Amino acid sequence: MIDKINQLLQEVEALKAANAEELEALRIKFLSKKGAINDLMADFRNVAAEQKKEVGMRLNELKNKAQEKIAALKEQFESQDTGCDDIDLTRSAYPVELGTRHPLTIVKNEIIDIFARLGFSIAEGPEIEDDWHVFSALNFAEDHPARDMQDTFFIEAHPDIVLRTHTSSVQTRVMEVSQPPIRIICPGRVYRNEAISYRAHCFFHQVEALYVDKDVSFTDLKQVLLLFAKEMFGEDTKIRLRPSYFPFTEPSAEMDISCNICGGKGCPFCKHTGWVEILGCGMVDPNVLESNGIDSKVYSGYALGMGIERITNLKYQVKDLRMFSENDTRFLKEFEAAY
Ligand SMILES: [Zn+2]
Repeated sequence: MIDKINQLLQEVEALKAANAEELEALRIKFLSKKGAINDLMADFRNVAAEQKKEVGMRLNELKNKAQEKIAALKEQFESQDTGCDDIDLTRSAYPVELGTRHPLTIVKNEIIDIFARLGFSIAEGPEIEDDWHVFSALNFAEDHPARDMQDTFFIEAHPDIVLRTHTSSVQTRVMEVSQPPIRIICPGRVYRNEAISYRAHCFFHQVEALYVDKDVSFTDLKQVLLLFAKEMFGEDTKIRLRPSYFPFTEPSAEMDISCNICGGKGCPFCKHTGWVEILGCGMVDPNVLESNGIDSKVYSGYALGMGIERITNLKYQVKDLRMFSENDTRFLKEFEAAY
């Protein structure tokens, strides 16, 4: 009988139940009226008198152990049953961790703030656009490479519909419904058919500015660019303009600023030239004004556009573009003090 009790004791020690039904089955097996322990109790009277004391003690021990074990398992199931599976009970209630602003948002807001002080207001438009607003109204020739599948995401069933490749489409949307003076800034996400690497991505962010009025000249543009560069990168920042080509501006230029890392002395970041490119700009091509219903004999304008990633990279030296969209909170936390 002692052997039988010892065997049951071992079984009780090792008891496991995956759910409430299994636990109930165990309770019946050990503790019910017809359970294993009651059977032993019934046999107790047949135990020889000199063994009664020891067997009685062992039997009580077994009964207590079985009751404790089954009660413990029951408690475990009850505490698990919170009625909601996705509550993390190990999470501390306080303090609640605050998020941080994304570096691209911080820089976008800085850019908007500078232009807002110059009287520009924000304009926004759709990211899914038609050919007219992205290309045709902006003087892109029919055979311009940007219309190629290689560079632009087209919607397969509707070749006229594209994911906008630049925020200039917002300029056309504003011009077609308003008359000068127009002074807008267009921030937004744009898409290009690029392989993703540390220096290129299939989407990125731009801010463009457009000013159309009577007697707007290249001098006005240059002055706004200089002010922007100084506000963004510091009072000592110098700018230089290089002739360039864009379908929607004539003349067109690209602007460099004196390298904000070496101060223009030359370093690996600026490839030892002392200058880094930051944006494209120019006088709005008269064809663009006319396409959008604005009389180019009366009005002129300038436009400029920059990549927010590029500006952020220059301000904070983010070496890998992909980090902006990976949602790694360790990366985002680095910008906590920036706003
Ligand atoms: Zn440098």
